[in-house]
Amino acid sequence: MRTVRLHNGSRVPALGQGTWRIGSDRAARAAEIAALRLGLDLGMTLIDTAEMYGDGAAEELVGEAIAGRREGVFLVSKVLPSNAGKAAVQRACRASLKRLNVERIDLYLLHWRGSIALGETIDGFEALRRDGLIGDWGVSNFDVSDMQDLVGLARPNGCLTNQVLYNLEYRGIEFDLLRYGVEQGIPIMAYSPVGQGGALLDHPALVRLAAKHECTPACVALAWTLRHDTIISIPKSANVAHVRENAAALSLTLDAEDLAAIDQAFPPPRGKTPLALL
Ligand code: NAP
Repeated sequence: MRTVRLHNGSRVPALGQGTWRIGSDRAARAAEIAALRLGLDLGMTLIDTAEMYGDGAAEELVGEAIAGRREGVFLVSKVLPSNAGKAAVQRACRASLKRLNVERIDLYLLHWRGSIALGETIDGFEALRRDGLIGDWGVSNFDVSDMQDLVGLARPNGCLTNQVLYNLEYRGIEFDLLRYGVEQGIPIMAYSPVGQGGALLDHPALVRLAAKHECTPACVALAWTLRHDTIISIPKSANVAHVRENAAALSLTLDAEDLAAIDQAFPPPRGKTPLALL
């Protein structure tokens, strides 16, 4: 498995697994757990979840999926901005730990910037870190100006990642945020990397490249996000066939001709666009 190095020296898989919209449907539970476990077997051992997903149901399902194999998993969860005050974040984190049935979240993210002062959230994260309830912390949906505010307030190397929307249809971060992350040593965690399984996967340019490489459009879309060695990509799938396709993206290298065809179909940004989010 290719890895990405974090500021704290640890290496995490470049390809992980998302969990939005899982855990709420009892009938789908067994398939969702099987898909996550297959992903772990295939090396996609970073799992991203959030207290928001299914009001905690996704965290509970993750807890069940990783039972007995916690040591081999890098666990990421996210706190809602409304719970990001110094005392509230303690309660939210403990509730997430309980649902996940673990003693520590490896990386705890602020889901998006809300009205609570960033300094207060950072203090709350640092207290959780000192108490060993989280390994480290990061943020999500932060644009460059938010990151500048954050870096000005945090201890050096405090923030370990910025999780943002990044796929072929949303390339805005290539103009500035991606470079900012590289300069600061803060990897981007790309969410919705296969465009939520929507129209992106039917795009003729992707279909052509998939045929050329004897893989699937999702595999091409993922390999494209993984072409940067500072990007961690977290596709969600509750379908074992899709999980296998997604894992195959690690062995696909897109050549210059492929990348040019992609740029023609999905042009890179020519100027600043505000960070897109879902
Ligand atoms: P995504 O991973 O781009 O797409 C997931 C959808 O694509 C699912 O419906 C899935 O269906 C389908 N899919 C996955 N692999 C496929 C394949 N090989 N072929 C065809 N369809 C495939 O979108 P996402 O779930 O929005 O993003 C990924 C993760 O990022 C989330 O689950 C969540 O953990 C995180 N996220 C974070 C934020 C944030 O604000 N921080 C926002 C959005 C997402 P099947 O299950 O049937 O495979």
